[in-house]
Amino acid sequence: MASLTPLPTWPIVGHTAAVRLLQRSLADGHLAHAYLLVGPPNVGKTTVGLYFAQALLCEDEAARSQGVACGRCAGCRKVRERTHPDLRVIEPDGGGEDDSGAAAGESGDGAGAARSKRKAASRVQIKIETVREVQRDLSLRPYQGARRVVLLAQADMLNDSAENALLKTLEEPPPYALLLLTAEDAETLLPTTVSRCQQVPLNPVPVPTIAEALVAQGQSPDDAHRLARLSGGRVGWALQAARDANLLSRRVTYLENLARVLRAPAVERLALAEEMAKKPETLPDLLLLWQGWWRDALLTQAGCGEWVTNIDQRPLLDQAAQRRSLETLAQALRATRQTADELERNANPRLALEVLFLSWPDA
Ligand SMILES: [Zn+2]
Repeated sequence: MASLTPLPTWPIVGHTAAVRLLQRSLADGHLAHAYLLVGPPNVGKTTVGLYFAQALLCEDEAARSQGVACGRCAGCRKVRERTHPDLRVIEPDGGGEDDSGAAAGESGDGAGAARSKRKAASRVQIKIETVREVQRDLSLRPYQGARRVVLLAQADMLNDSAENALLKTLEEPPPYALLLLTAEDAETLLPTTVSRCQQVPLNPVPVPTIAEALVAQGQSPDDAHRLARLSGGRVGWALQAARDANLLSRRVTYLENLARVLRAPAVERLALAEEMAKKPETLPDLLLLWQGWWRDALLTQAGCGEWVTNIDQRPLLDQAAQRRSLETLAQALRATRQTADELERNANPRLALEVLFLSWPDA
């Protein structure tokens, strides 16, 4: 049986189960027409999707039959350079694998509410024109290989008319078409969209796996372990933080801001809200990181301190956990998440931060 033969590994950090699924489907020739890669921001969805695209469009048949890309042929090169005529990559925010803060917050809303909320709210949207372009693209036969591949990152940003248009393609795809969608949460998509895709869950990668990858890239074991912990399992963040010191210094500044607010009396908190609202572009990352901090405070209070992500914050987290009840910390986390949601819906940054800061307990 082919499935018993060990296959060469993909150059991907973690995500063993997802890689195995995609690699097997290519090696065994049982490809779906659409895959939906689901996981938190910066966990590696686009990276996995792009490598899969490379393996699909690789011109080396021996490599392809093992579900890998040879890495040397013109097809592989063009996929890496994103110039392959049979590949289209759509990333609504231009990057995807950037430095958004902690792991995605879980929503207590019903699926439908979460879905329409996110769609209506997001400033970045994938519009129907983009989907029409994809459809025009897919109506042409492949130029070079046997397939045309579309990687649509952040499919949760499809607006309703765009998603409905995409459904037509998912329902009757041309035989050579292969769509790779990524999303943070399958519930933000229509159930009919999800049901037409093979779902591939990508979970946060274990800390030791990330640390090992960072050491292999030349980080010292201590630094590697620290970054891996701080990443909360988001490989993309860890790799970027290892290259770009700004990411870490920004994180430190954001956490200092949080500590300043907690120390300040009400009047000063209002002034801090005004100050931080002057950089609205920083607020999504800031609020995501702060959600992670409150989650850590909850973990500490619950006696699970060894699980915290922000390990350098232990003294402050201990302090918060000692002085505050579980309910108070949970309320602070909820309020922070709600503020992030409101800002996504274009709320006034200063007012939103004022309300948030006044709702937080004292340090
Ligand atoms: Zn190749």
